[in-house]
This record gives sequence, C-alpha cells and structure tokens, in this order.
Amino acid sequence: MNPGTQKPAKVFDADIVIVGCGAGGMSAAITAKSNGAGRIIVLEKLSAPGGNAIFPPLPLNDADGIPRFACMDDNRVKKGDPRLSPDPRVRADANFNCAMEWNHWRGDARLIRALVNKFETNSDWLKTLMTPEDLIPSPDDMRGKLARVLTKACKNAGVEILCETSAKKILKNETGRATGVLAETKDGNTIQINANSTLISTGGFIGSQELMNKYFNYADENIYDDVCIMGLLHTGDGIKMAFDAGAASDGTVAFEWEMNRMPWLKNPASPLTNLLNNDMNPGVVWVTPQGERFADEAKMNATNSIYRLKNKTFYIIFDEGQKKKFLTEGPDFDILPDFLRGLPLFAGVEKELQEQIEAGRIKVADTWDGIAEWMGADPAVLNNTIEEYNGFCDNNYDAMFLKRPKTLTAFRTGPFYAAKSTLAMLVTRGPLKVNTKMQLLDKKDEPIPGLYAAGVDIGGTDSDTYACSAACHSIGWSLASGRIAGENLLKGGGR
Ligand SMILES: Cc1cc2nc3c(=O)[nH]c(=O)nc-3n(C[C@H](O)[C@H](O)[C@H](O)COP(=O)(O)OP(=O)(O)OC[C@H]3O[C@@H](n4cnc5c(N)ncnc54)[C@H](O)[C@@H]3O)c2cc1C
Repeated sequence: MNPGTQKPAKVFDADIVIVGCGAGGMSAAITAKSNGAGRIIVLEKLSAPGGNAIFPPLPLNDADGIPRFACMDDNRVKKGDPRLSPDPRVRADANFNCAMEWNHWRGDARLIRALVNKFETNSDWLKTLMTPEDLIPSPDDMRGKLARVLTKACKNAGVEILCETSAKKILKNETGRATGVLAETKDGNTIQINANSTLISTGGFIGSQELMNKYFNYADENIYDDVCIMGLLHTGDGIKMAFDAGAASDGTVAFEWEMNRMPWLKNPASPLTNLLNNDMNPGVVWVTPQGERFADEAKMNATNSIYRLKNKTFYIIFDEGQKKKFLTEGPDFDILPDFLRGLPLFAGVEKELQEQIEAGRIKVADTWDGIAEWMGADPAVLNNTIEEYNGFCDNNYDAMFLKRPKTLTAFRTGPFYAAKSTLAMLVTRGPLKVNTKMQLLDKKDEPIPGLYAAGVDIGGTDSDTYACSAACHSIGWSLASGRIAGENLLKGGGR
C-alpha cells in the first residue's frame, strides 16, 4: 500500500482511533470510555489483541497494598526498602528517585513523576476491571491473564477492535491537526478512520532492522543473528508514522533486556534455564569467547555488560561441584521473589542438560583445556581465569568484580561445563517526545493537536539503559501512560 494514493474502501468516523491493541492502547481505550468517550476504534496489526502485554505478570498489589511483583533490581529488594513501603506516597517517591538516579537526570523528570504517581493506582484500577474469578490467583497471573483482562474490559466497554489491520499513515488537516489514520486490512484494502484524537502505542521497534541499526548500542551488521529476542518483533510503525507527522524525538532510547539466554532454550522457565541463569544461579561464571571474566555474575544489572561484547556473545561456565551444590541447596530465596518457593524449579534438569550436551549446545569436558578448545579460546587464558576465580572463592572476596561472597564457589570438581549465551532483549523504549498528558510534541516542543502516544514508543523515561530498579517499570509505565492518555484523549489536545 502506498498510503495516501489509494482511495479508501471504507471510511469510519470515531471519537478516538488508537493504533496498537497492547498495554498502552487498551488501557487508554478503557479509560477514555469510562470518561465518556463515544466511538473508539483500536487498530491491531496482528490477528489478536494483547501485544507484548501477553508476557508480563499481572501487576497487582497484595492486600497490604505492596506490589506483588515489585522490581527486578538485583532481586534484592528487601523488607524495609521504600519501594515496598505500605505507603503509596513513599513508594512513588522511591521509584521516582530510583528512575532519576538511574538515568542521571537525563530523563524527563515531570513525565517520570507523572508515570510513577499513576503507576501507584494501576493495581486498584486493574482490580475494577476484574471479575471475582479473575481475582483468584492462578498460574496465568504470571503470563497471559493481564492481556485477557484488558481485552475483556475493552469489549465490555464497547471498544471496537479491528485485528489484522495495520495503520500506515497519520492524517492531518491544513491546520496541522491530526484527524485520524489510514490503515490496511488483511485483504490489502485501505480504510480511513477519521477521529478527533489519535493515539500511537505500537510497542517499540525491536523488529526493525533499520531502527535497530540506528539506535542499538554497538550495533553489529545483523543484530538478529546475535541477540535473542524474547517478545513480538514490532517494527516501530507508530514511531515512523509519528515522525512523518512532524513529531520530535526525545533523544532517549533504551533497550529492555532479560537475563542472559540461550537462543535455543525457548522456555524461559525451564529447569535448565533455571540452572544456567544468573538470577537463579549466580554461582556460574561468565567469560568472553577469549576466556576472560567480564562481570559480576551475581548482579542482575551486569546484564548491561553483555552489550559491550562482540556479537553480544559469551559463555556460561560451571563445574560439577557447583552444579551439585546448587541443585542440593537450591537457590537463595533471600534474594528471589517469594512466589518461586515450592515450585519444582529443577525437576528433570539432568535429562534436559544431557539432551543439550548430545545436541552439541552444551559442552562437557574433563579439563578446562577441553572447554577452551570448544569455545575457541586460548586454554592458558581460561585456566588463568579459573585459577584466579578459585582464589577469590578461597578468600571469600572477589578482588576483581566484588561478587557477593555467598555466591562464590570454587570450580575444582570435574566434569566442567560451558554453554554459549547471548543478550536477551524484550522491548525497546523511546524515542517519541511527549508531555505529561502524553501529547506528542513537535520539533518546537509544541503539542501536535489531536495526536498522542503511550507505552514503550514514548521516550524520556530512561537514558541509555532500562531503569530496571523502578518497580514494574515497563508494564507499569505502559499501563500508566495509556491511562493518562485515555484521560486526555477526549479533550482532543491542542496547546
Ligand atoms: C517476553 C516479555 C516479557 C516481559 N515481561 C515484563 C515483566 O515481567 N515486567 C514488566 O514490567 N514488563 C514486562 N514486559 C514489557 C511489557 O510487555 C511492555 O511494557 C508492554 O507490553 C508495552 O506496551 P505497549 O502498548 O507499548 O506495546 P504492546 O503491548 O506490545 O502493544 C503494541 C501493539 O501495537 C501493535 N501494532 C504495531 N504496529 C501496528 C500498526 N502499524 N498498526 C496496528 N497495530 C500495530 C502490535 O501488534 C501490538 O499489539 C515484557 C515484555 C516481553 C516481550
């Protein structure tokens, strides 16, 4: 489709058109409806609503008001941490401080304040959308229920969702006001939706080679050969359309990562993932393809160090002794979320490990020389790394990267293991520039009348890396920005 040249097969008139039926789009639609909006049409490119909101846990607070799935931050958020205070004001202040410290005040402080404040009311708002059955805890609280609750609430509110309909162009009138969008249906027909307000929430650009080459730190020629993408491959449609419509860039783009992953290990909760991932098993060691340690493996934020590596690739190594100790003693529940207690985290792990060894994806060898040879590293370098690390373990002090003493276990019991790993990425954040009403700004920092954005398409929330220490930052702020947009969409924007 060449937007603008084809005569629309059908024209719709609505109060509001929303591009993207994910977290930001649906929370905006539900809020706008409850504020009295008339016809709302939500366009969704894929065959079903949900977007990446199908993945995160349902971000509810417990009865004491404390967020159930608080933050990722080194998994060490302890009782007494202000982010877990029963007082929502204390929590909001702590999350604000946390986000601003993380981005070194490069983020948009007013925007972040608006998002953390709104975030505190997300749980109560979500509960109003849920039936008594939805409120009964179930395994899909961890994945799936959130998107279902939002979709159901949209339908109950009379929001019209057009799936397999891809927005292509934002329409503007002669005064510069956004007046709707042109979209393409699955049959290749052009449709036009005229609306007083248009919201963009298309979930970032992780699937766009063009935008990844432009924004991804240390981009390699084809990043899709290197990194492991865990979510939907959104192509930055809303960002490109907004730029075409005169929107400005905030200049901040961040990449949301998950823990290190093996691209072949598709199940993020499999027993083998639990053995290999540093959040669960910080006793593993990470080495570069040359065989040198490069990070404190017990620190979740050290995932950022993987960006620096050639092809974002490294090796996870451990020995039989560390493996046995870990599987016998189990993970450290002082630092892991409580909901993991009692789950069969390692059932069948030896079988899974064996299968991957047989498939050649994990190397097992009687000597570190054998491991080095498989990795293509100089055996002397890898042996030095192990000798140095074992010395740190003996002294209970990692003189290189200060890994927590409790996580230091020397590697002296063969056989020895290695698995190739890579950076795992979830979504991109930014860079569309918005104000605290989620109005898109033009290059003079003036709101473009009738045009809004929400979710991860908006910039100003992070600087170069994702502020994982702020509670539920991603889904929490995607919902919050959608809800704020929903409160303002009906007003139609303007200065
Ligand atoms: C694997 C994974 C796990 C995650 N886990 C967590 C977690 O534990 N905690 C947390 O806080 N966050 C988590 N997140 C992040 C969270 O899912 C996002 O913050 C949130 O979904 C972003 O909302 P959004 O509306 O911006 O994008 P989405 O929810 O992805 O919605 C965007 C929608 O726009 C649609 N779209 C795109 N282009 C067009 C077009 N041209 N026309 C019409 N529709 C279009 C897409 O198909 C999609 O449905 C996770 C993400 C992933 C991928």
